Amino acid sequence: MSLNKPKIVVLGAGYAGLTTTKRLMQKLSPEQAEIVLVNKHNYHYESTWLHEVAAGTINPNQARVIISDVINPNKVKLVVDAVTKIDKDNQRVILENSELDYDYLVVALGFESNDFGIKGMAEHAFAIEDIDSSRLISEHIEYQFAKYNSGESVDEHSLNILVGGAGFTGIELVGELAERVPQLCKKYDIDRNKVRIINVEAAPSILPMFDKELVEYAKKSLEDRGVEIKIGAPISECTEEGFIVGEDNELIKAGTIIWTGGVKGSSVLGNSGFELTKGKVNVDSDLRVSDEENIFVIGDCSWVWDHNADRPYPPTAQLAMQEADVVAANLVALLNNEPLTDFVFKSKGTVASLGHSDGIANVFNDNKLKGKAAAAMKKVVDNRSLYLIGGPKLVLKKGKFRPF
Ligand code: FAD
Ligand code: NAD
Repeated sequence: MSLNKPKIVVLGAGYAGLTTTKRLMQKLSPEQAEIVLVNKHNYHYESTWLHEVAAGTINPNQARVIISDVINPNKVKLVVDAVTKIDKDNQRVILENSELDYDYLVVALGFESNDFGIKGMAEHAFAIEDIDSSRLISEHIEYQFAKYNSGESVDEHSLNILVGGAGFTGIELVGELAERVPQLCKKYDIDRNKVRIINVEAAPSILPMFDKELVEYAKKSLEDRGVEIKIGAPISECTEEGFIVGEDNELIKAGTIIWTGGVKGSSVLGNSGFELTKGKVNVDSDLRVSDEENIFVIGDCSWVWDHNADRPYPPTAQLAMQEADVVAANLVALLNNEPLTDFVFKSKGTVASLGHSDGIANVFNDNKLKGKAAAAMKKVVDNRSLYLIGGPKLVLKKGKFRPF
């Protein structure tokens, strides 16, 4: 610990890290602790909007917020740099361009795509991981359309868009693509029937977390808008041309191949010698790493056990922000030698968009919503997230108010 005051370093300015920092700003004066926030970029992005960036239905700038606009520089030092390793033994964080020491550490470095080692996936498929990787997908799709009538020789499958995995991300992405593709067809004078949007899922159903009625509604809504959904079709390989799928090794070809088959915690965790469970750090109920009194791991980097359901909580923004509240309170408790609080998740429900004006939801004690009501709920959730980060000004600047 430095001579004067303890130093708290927060790694990552996603939902978990930025919320922790904002709470610490409220709870601690600059005399009580030095707070340092480290993030790869000078902006925070709304990860929950990345499928829209990838489909090209929103501008990437709408989904990102300059961090210095929403934190107080008198209370928090922002370091824009990439973390490469955490040296627990010496209480240091190694960054690409410098190093930092800490007394207390909050690791909130978020998610990376998990391809489960499927052959060729890393080489040939796009993944939704951040603003840059998502923007690349929308640019690539548009390039396929621009090229089609340009006189350059094109493959007959070049307009096809193949999405691997029909969990939340895959389904929300094809929902956006169902809106984007007709716009691109119009812009580049292409017959809509020449474009296939194909979503391939290994499980016997899409969106296993919703009940049958909502799943059927989602499937029909997407299929009515031209999305092909293939269930019970595990992808065994990805080639330059497409996915190899199912027992008969069918090759489905496409000019754009996107993997949305799962996520894991930041690779910095493994590089730093943390013990991992399915790519995440197992934390105690106070969100500290076992045997590490001064390191908290939260958000998509953490594996937090749900004792009621007897499984880990699924990684969501909602969970990340609630964990951040508890971590900030526990850091203050540690500074004051007070007992720490256990984390208990209170679910506010689940909403999945199916494009701008459609969706399904389970909210307010298992009430089901679908259609425009669910889509409106999703916009409320998205705007609330902005409100929590930057207040009403940010909601007015970046909020979602486009009518249905
Ligand atoms: P992140 O949001 O991933 O933030 C991590 C931060 O760390 C980023 O700022 C990143 O730039 C930074 N970072 C990463 N690596 C480094 C490094 N090496 N050095 C420095 N900085 C680094 N959840 C919901 O609850 N509701 C939804 O509707 C929803 N929709 C989603 C839609 C999509 C398309 C996706 C992909 C996810 C969605 N989720 C949703 C899940 C949710 O986005 C994640 O659970 C949430 O983002 C986790 O928050 P986090 O703070 O842990 O990580
Ligand atoms: P996921 O793990 O939830 O879904 C991945 C899907 O890919 C699964 O349905 C899985 O069966 C399928 N899959 C895996 N391997 C496959 C293979 N070889 N072939 C075919 N299909 C395969 O991952 P996700 O959708 O990226 O979501 C990640 C996390 O983010 C989840 O916890 C989710 O709850 C959260 N999220 C939430 C929302 C929301 O609340 N609206 C939106 C997006 C993501």
